[in-house]
Amino acid sequence: MLKLAPSILSADFACLLSDIQKIERGGADYIHVDVMDGHFVPNISFGAPVMKALNDRTKLPYDVHLMIENPDQYLDSFVTPQTAFITVHREACVHLHRTIQNIHAKGIKAGVAINPATPVSSLECILEDVDLVLVMSVNPGFGGQKFIPSALEKVKTLAEIKRAKGLSFAIEIDGGITLDNAKTVMDAGVEIAV
Ligand code: ZN
Repeated sequence: MLKLAPSILSADFACLLSDIQKIERGGADYIHVDVMDGHFVPNISFGAPVMKALNDRTKLPYDVHLMIENPDQYLDSFVTPQTAFITVHREACVHLHRTIQNIHAKGIKAGVAINPATPVSSLECILEDVDLVLVMSVNPGFGGQKFIPSALEKVKTLAEIKRAKGLSFAIEIDGGITLDNAKTVMDAGVEIAV
C-alpha cells in the first residue's frame, strides 16, 4: 500500500488546522512539512513554530523535509513528540553521515533527499544508515510543479539496491504527484508519496 504524506505547502495557511483535519479524516499517513529557507531553495515557507502549533491538534506524525542550509544548526527545533522523520538534502550537507547521526541521536528517523540533478550513486555510502530516501520529482522551492519523469528511474534503481542489499530504508517521492501518476510511482517502488 502506498502511504500518503500531504504537504502543508498545499494547505490554505489561513485555515491550516481545518485543512489538517481534512487530510486526517481522509486517511493521510503523515503530514509532510516542507521547510524552505530562501538560501538552499529560492523561496521561504515556514519554520518549526507552525509545526509546533499543530502539536496535539492532530494525531498524524510529521514527515519533516528540511530544504535548508546548515540543517544541523536547526535540528532541535524540529524535534517534537510527533516528529517521525527528519529528512535533509544530500546537496546541503557536507558531512551527511554526521548529520544523519545527529538526527538519530535525537531519537528520530533520518532521511536523505536528492534533487532532480543529483544521482542515486551519490547516496551509495549512506544508504545503510538512513531510514528514508526522498526522491525529488520537481525542483524544490515551490508547490504545484509538474512531475519530472527521470525521478521514476531513480526510484527503480533505489528499489533494486534495497532488494539486493536487504536494506530497510523507505522510498519517498515528492513533487507533482497526482491521481494520474500515483499508481505508476507505486509500481516503480515508491512507498510514501508526498
Ligand atoms: Zn517535501
